[in-house]
Amino acid sequence: MDLRELYQEVILDHGKNPRNFRFPEPSNREGQGYNPLCGDRITLRLQLDGDVITDVGFQGSGCAISQAAASTMTEAIKGRTVADAELLFGQFHTLVTDDGGPEPNMDTLGKLAAFAGVGEFPMRVKCATLAWHTLHQALEGDDASAPVKTE
Ligand code: ZN
Repeated sequence: MDLRELYQEVILDHGKNPRNFRFPEPSNREGQGYNPLCGDRITLRLQLDGDVITDVGFQGSGCAISQAAASTMTEAIKGRTVADAELLFGQFHTLVTDDGGPEPNMDTLGKLAAFAGVGEFPMRVKCATLAWHTLHQALEGDDASAPVKTE
């Protein structure tokens, strides 16, 4: 199995069986994301204790990439600080958009590296980043009801 197949396996697996597909109890932050290009929807809730994301989960519907991205994201950020989560977002964003942001570190990214190929399909980039924009909104968040805008 080459790297590309391995990456596809990760996305298919998480798309079919998303992890943390539930809302944490308790939770004190929420973000809602919608990608009109593809119809992907995500509601993300997390429990923030100080600056640590102690629990996180989501509910949503949409394409396999959007759900797999949300699933792998929840695994990646659980137990991390807000600063670490934002750093991961920066690296992930560079990985899928090649926007010249923070250099992606494949060891740090772990399973998130599976989305490296998404950059070849501009229409799918918003599917892959929806959960992360939703996370950003939830972390910023007073206004949990404002929809996420993907750029
Ligand atoms: Zn999608």
